[in-house]
Amino acid sequence: MNGVFSRCLYIMCAVAVVAATGCGSGGNRPPAFDGNRALTLLQQQVALGPRTPGSESWQAFQTMLRRLCDSLGIAGTTQVFTYNDYLTGNTISLANWIVSINPGERDRVLVAAHYDSRPRADRDPDSTRRNLPIPGANDGASGSAMLMHLMELLSTHPPRIGVDLVFFDGEDYGPSGKLDQYLLGSTYFAAHSPNRYRYGILLDMIGDRDLRIYREGYSERYAWEIDDKVWKTAARLGATAFVDSVGTEVIDDHIPLVGAGIPMIDIIDFDYPYWHTTADTPDKCSAASLEAVGRVVMEVIYGE
Ligand SMILES: [Zn+2]
Repeated sequence: MNGVFSRCLYIMCAVAVVAATGCGSGGNRPPAFDGNRALTLLQQQVALGPRTPGSESWQAFQTMLRRLCDSLGIAGTTQVFTYNDYLTGNTISLANWIVSINPGERDRVLVAAHYDSRPRADRDPDSTRRNLPIPGANDGASGSAMLMHLMELLSTHPPRIGVDLVFFDGEDYGPSGKLDQYLLGSTYFAAHSPNRYRYGILLDMIGDRDLRIYREGYSERYAWEIDDKVWKTAARLGATAFVDSVGTEVIDDHIPLVGAGIPMIDIIDFDYPYWHTTADTPDKCSAASLEAVGRVVMEVIYGE
């Protein structure tokens, strides 16, 4: 995610798609979310190497995602687009991935995360490492690991509503201060959304071992009723990592969607000492944290 706390500008850029059908009868009780499975998916992503846009590891992640779709009998759609990087003069190719559960259902929610990882560790305490890409265990892999496990659960135990699981690219591309070089995938998606959504939930940095999630400031301002739904559900489940007070404002992938009229919240623990450093590694994350968030999100989805 991007830690600059005010103003936002974006950019845009082309298209592809994934569609899935559920099998089974639906129902409103969620299947168990397995934190260990989510942690394994997180570790597997980091083992690919940094998923910076255009890199081999970034391509390998998409292959991993395609194979998971195939193994579940799910179709996926991609949105492929380009971005002209005015700082380097390079044109880069980016790809959002969309996995649709109950694709024929008109009443839909959006659950999203970014899968790219940051090209530079510009907050690393060691200044010689600041041009290295981050491993992105928590900032990147945690959210997409959760989406992948949700794919496994939702495709085999379809909820009553339609759910689009969207993997955004290019969230963390830009250098510090260049806000228009962030949120590339979500900005594109907001302008080319294949569906309408009742609301959206963004998952970012939710794997921290020391998990404390406050209501994010913009979410509370623009979609407080979704925050209410999530935090009340967390309280009911005894998920104490969800702290029911408002924390900081974070410019993240929910902002372009809010701008497109979709009430969308960001579930994020922004208090992470390894943020944008080379120490953002899987040992800083835990199965328990992923499971706590996964259970709450599942309960919300199956409650609809
Ligand atoms: Zn980030």
